[in-house]
Amino acid sequence: MITLQNIRKVYRNGPLEVEALSSINLTIERGEFVAIMGSSGSGKSTLMNIIGCLDVPTSGKYILDGEEVQALDEGKLSSVRNRKIGFVFQSFNLLGRQTVLHNVELPLMYGGVSGAKRTQRALELLDKVGLGGRVKHKPTELSGGQKQRVAIARALTMDAPILLADEPTGNLDSKSSEDIMALFKGIHEEGTTIILVTHEPDIAEYAERVLWFGDGKLLRETRRGSAAT
Ligand code: ADP
Ligand code: MG
Repeated sequence: MITLQNIRKVYRNGPLEVEALSSINLTIERGEFVAIMGSSGSGKSTLMNIIGCLDVPTSGKYILDGEEVQALDEGKLSSVRNRKIGFVFQSFNLLGRQTVLHNVELPLMYGGVSGAKRTQRALELLDKVGLGGRVKHKPTELSGGQKQRVAIARALTMDAPILLADEPTGNLDSKSSEDIMALFKGIHEEGTTIILVTHEPDIAEYAERVLWFGDGKLLRETRRGSAAT
């Protein structure tokens, strides 16, 4: 479903160059649950942003569901992003002044889904993440774990086959982290491909496959129940 060939990413700030990713080769199959681990600055977020079509590689090829992403024009790209990718961030990225319901309805609004249908779908998803009773609240009135559940509901609105999560439990206490991971586990069991960045070994254990990054490189990978490769 996801194939990266020789992906390289260089950030240029004036005369300064940072090679955030160098020559990444990677395939992720439909339905996998993959964790990405590695020290700060090792290129994990850069990789996630490229996989999520939020950023483009400096060179190399990214094939998503048989389509070469760099070959798509802006309109097609944004449609691929909306239909195929849900994204969850460490800092939740919710609109603080809007209700929980509105936050979850937003992607559906952009996707052209009509009012009543949109609200029904958002309410369904908020129920699923256990926030059916909080839909009229503002995110500022919720705990970190609840905010992340809103963000997950939002990421699920378009029924995207891929869910990306960049340190989704990074700002949460251990109980909330477990709740969030239980949610991801259920979403994976329903067939969604999940790619999750984490610092925490306990969190990575939810995945079937762990990719270890260091200094912009994919160093090694481990699969649940087998030795390092
Ligand atoms: P991680 O998520 O593993 O902490 P990142 O992908 O955020 O790593 O960063 C990888 C490297 O790229 C780091 O050296 C970081 O400073 C650099 N970097 C990330 N984003 C930018 C940017 N927008 N401009 C310049 N350098 C960046
Ligand atoms: Mg990061």
